[in-house]
Amino acid sequence: MSTQMMEAEWIWQDGEFVRWHDAKLHVLSLAVQFGSSVFEGIRCYETPDGPAVFRLRDHLERLYDSARIFRMQPTQTIDELTDACLEAVERNGLTECYIRPMVLRGYGAAGMNPVGSPVHTFIPCWPWGAYLGAEALEQGVDVCVSSWQRAEPNTFPIAAKAAGNYNNAQLIKMEAVANGFAEGIALNTHGLVSEGSGQNLFMVRRGVLITPVLDGSNLNGITRDSVLALAREMGIPTREQPVPRETLYNADELFLTGTASEVTPVRSVDRIAVGAGKAGPITRALQQRFMDVVHGRAPAPAGSEGWLTPTRTPVTR
Ligand code: PMP
Repeated sequence: MSTQMMEAEWIWQDGEFVRWHDAKLHVLSLAVQFGSSVFEGIRCYETPDGPAVFRLRDHLERLYDSARIFRMQPTQTIDELTDACLEAVERNGLTECYIRPMVLRGYGAAGMNPVGSPVHTFIPCWPWGAYLGAEALEQGVDVCVSSWQRAEPNTFPIAAKAAGNYNNAQLIKMEAVANGFAEGIALNTHGLVSEGSGQNLFMVRRGVLITPVLDGSNLNGITRDSVLALAREMGIPTREQPVPRETLYNADELFLTGTASEVTPVRSVDRIAVGAGKAGPITRALQQRFMDVVHGRAPAPAGSEGWLTPTRTPVTR
């Protein structure tokens, strides 16, 4: 799995398209100095009716919620950014890609009060395969419990997808990789399971699908929400609850969810095999159903219509 960025041609910047390498900020922008930036990660999938973006509105609403927490006012409306995301995919001639809208503070303010810096919006998108590798989706990944914890609530706002939060995520990921694991699972400051560096976590125990409750230490993942909706529709009992660390070692199945990671099985935690050491039947069924829905091969669960927003690229059959 390549860790290098795959480039596209155009990036949407504050209402117009600029060439990939011309989307720039001054080095003294607040986003660079102090991490004043919120962002989203969204996937566009190929469907029988052409490329379509998965849960675009939900992602953009979360982006605006993130911005509001940091008192940032994006210069575009959600409807305008919806169009801009679709246009970015179309303009780059992409069918399947990852879209990364960013709202950030630029150059101007000198100190901690950021209001003197303008708010900018960028929408890059680029082709990005399975985040943990195509093999991971089949075979599952080996993970560890990280020695880094998630932040205490009311320190860094975890409900905001803010760039600064990802310093913690990078520590978790780098430590895991340095120790030979694909991912690290972070605990919260009470020692309960929180989430991966960029994924929510699910486990199956005696037929029940369990995921850590949203406790101010983990992100309200849109894939998490989708998987819960799909599970309910499939008649799988679900529970959101506090999850003690030791539960991980006795889970029958375990998997990670995220826009980039999709539904990735976990085959071991801290070198202890999960179940039979490969993707279990409920994980497989949910993964299959998720992939069918995002690719437009199966309908979204009843009451969840509008999960796919088609681009306006002409469909060639
Ligand atoms: N937790 C963290 C810390 C993340 O960065 C992500 C990826 N956005 C997730 C969970 C999963 O969220 P989503 O399913 O909305 O991509």
